[in-house]
Amino acid sequence: MSDVLVFKGDLVLPDRILEGGHVACRNGRITHVGVENPFRNVESIEGKYISPGYVDIHVHGGANADYMDGDSDAVLTSNRCHARHGTTTLFPTTTTGTRQELDAMTSACQAVQNSWRSSDGARIAGVHFYGPYFAEDKVGVHPVEGRRDPVREEYEYFLRKSIVRIATCAAELPGALDFYRFAQRFGCFITCGHSNAHWGELERGFAEGVRHVDHFWCAMSSVSSLRARFGTPMRAGMEQYVLHNEDMSTEVIADGYHLSDELLKFAYDMIGQYRLCLVTDANRALDCPPGEYRFGPQGSGSIVISDGNTVSDPNGGLASSMHGMDHMVRTMASATSAPLHTTIRMASLTPAELAGISADHGSLEVGKTADVLLLSDDLEIEEVYLGGEKFDLQDGGKTPG
Ligand SMILES: [Zn+2]
Repeated sequence: MSDVLVFKGDLVLPDRILEGGHVACRNGRITHVGVENPFRNVESIEGKYISPGYVDIHVHGGANADYMDGDSDAVLTSNRCHARHGTTTLFPTTTTGTRQELDAMTSACQAVQNSWRSSDGARIAGVHFYGPYFAEDKVGVHPVEGRRDPVREEYEYFLRKSIVRIATCAAELPGALDFYRFAQRFGCFITCGHSNAHWGELERGFAEGVRHVDHFWCAMSSVSSLRARFGTPMRAGMEQYVLHNEDMSTEVIADGYHLSDELLKFAYDMIGQYRLCLVTDANRALDCPPGEYRFGPQGSGSIVISDGNTVSDPNGGLASSMHGMDHMVRTMASATSAPLHTTIRMASLTPAELAGISADHGSLEVGKTADVLLLSDDLEIEEVYLGGEKFDLQDGGKTPG
């Protein structure tokens, strides 16, 4: 029975907390979720909360590695770092960059995915092809030389790579609709980000498959940014379009620094647990001391400065986050009135559903992969299991590689 694991604690299920329950796993899969222990001769592993592993659809790096560094060591270093923060499945996310840098990144992620074992940390479910097709006025901290309008020959090459599962493009760019059409053909989850699109541009994107907007309120259009683009009458943009269209979803960086508690509360109350997910959007400064880092490729990325809580460009503009999903869950739990199982759903099952991997991941349900977290009363990560195997939190990538 050595291949059998039994967890005991308050089970975090998609729709409720089951107090004092048991989750049993065999050969890396969940075989039982319920009150009783089906294997009486197996000693249970006890925690306060037994939670599904977290799923991150927007993540750039950690532990001084960015996926855009483009080699397997960087990919593994970041994946182990995120596993220590409770993420068991993730989608490494491109920044802007050259075609060669994007190619190295996607190839390195493919290689790590092909040879994955639990000691490698979070598993890669696919790449989020995010940069380089951003609007010029919404590039944010991404390397600006690496931005461009969609180039058909280039995106056809990348979207044909089976590892690319999520695809972002700003809706107002020339060629965006062709990009969406192509991404839809290859079954990608399609999103609009780093964009100053108005309602009508979103609507045309929606018709070609756009269903999501990256990091709500960050690097996206607003009534005032559209006024700067078009003058009056003032126009609706991405915020209004997502709030209005029930088939659109979005994500928040709930680190407590990008968005105030009232915006997190507003997002949860207005968009809800099925259309809103948590992302880390973490960069390489996660788990690193304050100082200067590169956002994007180690050689050519933008210079950013970490103060230990936030990462900014030299002009003070906030860059992506430097926190793991455990931190996002704790912030969201304290900022909103969402019950705990709902907060955790937004970090597990909801992103898994959006990205199309919920048959295998995202919740404690019979038949799914045994990605299990033991959480303390205050939602700190105590133990992490990937496919039923315990991940070593001490040796698991703490040291930047
Ligand atoms: Zn990002």
